[in-house]
Amino acid sequence: MRTQTENAARVVVIGAGMAGARLASRVPGVTVIGEEEHAPYNRVLLAEVLAGRYEPDVIALPPAEVRRGVRVVRIDRVERQVLCDDGSVIAYERLVLATGSNPVLPPLRGLNHRLPDGVHPFRTLDDCLALRAAVRPGVRAVVIGGGLLGVSAARALAECGAQVVLAQQGEHLMERQLDAEAAGMLRRHLEALGVEVHTECRVRGLRCTDGDAPAVRAVELADGYELEAEITVLACGVRPRTGLAQAAGLDVRKGIVVDDELRTSDPYIHAVGDCAEHDGTVYGLAGAALEQADVLADVLNGRSASYGGTRALTRLTLRSPSAAPVADGAAGSLDLAAFGDSRPMPGDDVIRLADATRGAYRTVVVRGDRLAGGVLFGDLAAVGTLARTWQDDEPLPADMSLLHLLTNDGGF
Ligand SMILES: Cc1cc2nc3c(=O)[nH]c(=O)nc-3n(C[C@H](O)[C@H](O)[C@H](O)COP(=O)(O)OP(=O)(O)OC[C@H]3O[C@@H](n4cnc5c(N)ncnc54)[C@H](O)[C@@H]3O)c2cc1C
Repeated sequence: MRTQTENAARVVVIGAGMAGARLASRVPGVTVIGEEEHAPYNRVLLAEVLAGRYEPDVIALPPAEVRRGVRVVRIDRVERQVLCDDGSVIAYERLVLATGSNPVLPPLRGLNHRLPDGVHPFRTLDDCLALRAAVRPGVRAVVIGGGLLGVSAARALAECGAQVVLAQQGEHLMERQLDAEAAGMLRRHLEALGVEVHTECRVRGLRCTDGDAPAVRAVELADGYELEAEITVLACGVRPRTGLAQAAGLDVRKGIVVDDELRTSDPYIHAVGDCAEHDGTVYGLAGAALEQADVLADVLNGRSASYGGTRALTRLTLRSPSAAPVADGAAGSLDLAAFGDSRPMPGDDVIRLADATRGAYRTVVVRGDRLAGGVLFGDLAAVGTLARTWQDDEPLPADMSLLHLLTNDGGF
């Protein structure tokens, strides 16, 4: 155990995830402290590791000097130092919180902080490797949660040969990104992969074996029905990791509140990524985490920079293990891209193009003279132009027919 105070490092970063690693690659000489044992990796690709398509080294991020397997347990703002669980104390001139988020543990009967055997969160590479080790062909798996994470996990487990049931409380899948029609296509695609999808399905509890080391054996639904389960994946959302900031007395709402220079209520401390709240928004998306890290790198390197929010795109590829044709012509892979707000408000124009035979669907929402959001399925040829138009928040040309937005060049 080390107890001495080490030399002051100019910048200390807590968290070696996507934002922390990006910052380390852009700011020379930072000290990064990361609780995970692995070198930094691209979290967005974890489902590919679970499906066995990639080995963990393939998703590694560019190497960064990280103190791995070390957790910061306290921030001392008066002395400007952080205290770690290995006894080390590290002084900072500038501190960056890049602590990401934690999976939400739903309030289920039979679930407490010690997860029963067979119950898996899906956040870290270790979660993913544990899940991969537990999956074998024919194993019964229940995924709780039908958002991006649950859909990715269900697809990957099905690809490994598991018998998968996806239980989604909401009316349709990926409610944050998709409208009902697009969600219906996604559902049919998952079903074609062998996933049994239940929507408006509330899980009430877990049934576990008795004894000192209980293991899950079924998932109990609100109506009393039980889904047999040897594996259960919790994909019920995430919550920003703000405990350290809160204990240090920083301004925390949903996330750690930051200004346009990603500075917290303490001018010597910044926050980026999933743990940060900027202008009332916690993004929880990789694109925003990387953009915030880039702006902060400029700030820390002494350049003037300002963060004005992120217009991030969500993309998902669901690959069929075989190219067997399935309903709606949704054979092979299914590509999905969603951006902005695709739920129309009164007065919005909605332009939609659906081709059930080819499994293609495109919809965009136009608010005033701007693109507000959209969902593209199947053929993503138009995604680049549409996404750029939305990201740049440029007015749409007044003389353009809105239908052109859905042609392959996005009408430009
Ligand atoms: C399976 C999966 C799929 C996803 N797919 C997508 C997608 O398709 N598109 C998308 O935009 N986003 C996706 N996301 C979300 C995306 O991964 C996150 O938005 C992104 O990782 C945020 O980066 P971050 O650096 O803020 O947090 P993280 O990458 O979570 O990194 C935070 C790190 O900080 C460490 N840490 C926390 N507290 C401490 C401490 N006290 N001491 C030391 N270390 C600490 C954690 O262990 C972690 O390694 C996905 C996430 C998951 C889990």
